[in-house]
Amino acid sequence: CKTSEIKEILYKVLVVGNFGVGKTSVIRRYTSGIFSPHYKLTIGVDFALKTLIWDEHTKINMQLWDIAGHERFGHMTRVYYKYAIAAIIVFDLTRQPTFDAVQKWLDDVRQKVVLENDEPVPVLLLANKCDLDNTTAQVDQSKLDQYCEDHNLIGWFPTSAKDNTNIEEAMSFLIEKIMQIS
Ligand code: GDP
Ligand code: MG
Repeated sequence: CKTSEIKEILYKVLVVGNFGVGKTSVIRRYTSGIFSPHYKLTIGVDFALKTLIWDEHTKINMQLWDIAGHERFGHMTRVYYKYAIAAIIVFDLTRQPTFDAVQKWLDDVRQKVVLENDEPVPVLLLANKCDLDNTTAQVDQSKLDQYCEDHNLIGWFPTSAKDNTNIEEAMSFLIEKIMQIS
């Protein structure tokens, strides 16, 4: 009699970006499938877990860390970044300054976290609130492609936590990348 072995993996993923871009909404949409329009400021660092049966041998626990309320500093402590295997930077397509801040978040991530082999962690960019009308002019695909290439990001997705657009796709893409390096 052979027992099948299931490997269980925990991935800590940081979710950063300016206040109000939709970090908490993206995390909640992904982990619990809901969207609540109520603006709620949570204080402190918080994380949510999503468990995926990746294949018959692998179970993945995605631990998404929300910076909840610390956005105004524009950076996080090293403790927060510790043991992270990837990061997601979120900006709001309707507010250009939140895109301008992406670089600052990226610098913070790059300075404070590396993989065990000293390689940089994979970073994914989410252009959130793509459901809103006034975004079309600002979704400059080639500009974002170029940005990702220039700054060594794994890629970007236009997302909507509200309409559930590309949330699963973006997360699966990130997990694929993580699986390749871990
Ligand atoms: P955080 O500060 O980055 O955690 O942002 P929140 O998740 O709290 O979202 C900020 C505001 O944007 C809230 O009022 C959300 O309901 C709203 N929001 C978040 N994601 C979306 C989205 O994809 N589309 C729209 N229209 N609103 C969103
Ligand atoms: Mg939040």
